Amino acid sequence: MAKFPIDEFKGRITPFYYYDLGLLHTTLDALKAAVGQSPFHVHYALKANTNPAVLKLVVEAGLGADCVSMGEIRAAIEAGFNPEGIFFAGVGKSDAEIDYALANRIGCFNVESLPELELIAEMAADKSMVANVALRVNPNIDAHTHHYITTGLEENKFGIALEMLDDAVALCLRQPNLHLYGLHFHIGSQITDLEPYRILCNRINKLVADYASKGIRFNVLNVGGGLGVDYDDPDGNPIPNFKAFFDVFRENLDLAPGQQLHFELGRSLVAQCGSLITKVLYVKEGVGKKFAIVDAGMTDLIRPALYQAHHKIENITSASATTDVYDVVGPICESSDCFGKDETLPLTRRGDLLALRSAGAYGEIMAMGYNMRPLPSSFVR
Ligand SMILES: *Cc1c(COP(=O)(O)O)cnc(C)c1O
Repeated sequence: MAKFPIDEFKGRITPFYYYDLGLLHTTLDALKAAVGQSPFHVHYALKANTNPAVLKLVVEAGLGADCVSMGEIRAAIEAGFNPEGIFFAGVGKSDAEIDYALANRIGCFNVESLPELELIAEMAADKSMVANVALRVNPNIDAHTHHYITTGLEENKFGIALEMLDDAVALCLRQPNLHLYGLHFHIGSQITDLEPYRILCNRINKLVADYASKGIRFNVLNVGGGLGVDYDDPDGNPIPNFKAFFDVFRENLDLAPGQQLHFELGRSLVAQCGSLITKVLYVKEGVGKKFAIVDAGMTDLIRPALYQAHHKIENITSASATTDVYDVVGPICESSDCFGKDETLPLTRRGDLLALRSAGAYGEIMAMGYNMRPLPSSFVR
């Protein structure tokens, strides 16, 4: 079990997100060591977590930023990311967002459709600018992850279908206000089996070779993010195996001299440094069941309700040597507002604090005000 500063938790209003910045620091160091001397550039996917304390460490580590909205671009600029290192992805960029991104001279648009490409060209022309664009390709690869977080299949809304890529490339080449900067891929999230990435490398090699034979070269290949974390054993595996992940690309992707390889990692950088701390309100006896009713709900951490995800649950204040079995549930009027069924915990009482582990990614940032609940606060150390 991780060490929590329990004394500093006492008296705080629950629920709140706790971030262990020491672990985030160690994780970023491990990432840098795994990159080593390779021509790899890592961008942080802001959508995983934009807590200012988290962003500050990521900026200090020298990463770029992968943004999916005007709000994220603004947060990235305010946090100190270099605009050139900000890439803008997303299947539905609005006119106002494109305008804002151009005005702030971000590094690149990751473009997901032909009509979007036309709009960016038009808006760049109006500003007498040349916009860097990377084409997001839908490589039709099954990432073997939950169907709500797979993104690289033909049936998904993301990316430009392989059949239409030639048209998109041709449009970039004849449009003076577009600079074709690279190709972009992102096949899904919470990917723990690295095989889909190997398949992705092979597919990219073939595509790049096909275009090279036509004299078309890409400065940047961007393979997205998606590396998974160990939700079952956050203390056993607090830092993802970045080296094994990068090695798949080192061993399987043919990079031309001078060509850069970009990654966009979100979850794997920040998930393990965060926990949602919640207080037990009541222990209720049901028929053949005990419910530990806590003051955090799906409004504070939606992953279990949205993706059937499970976060490891620990009672961090009970000193009891005996255990019991509980369903840990929140207060929201939805049956999916449940963090765990049949959880074995030390004897749990009203007032105990529970930690929902590995909640640093897609946790606080997805909190909402349903039931007119206040948003959770955060505490960093
Ligand atoms: C969400 C997203 C990422 C980050 O995904 P993780 O699974 O958190 O690493 C990277 N790139 C794109 C385009 C995304 O949409």
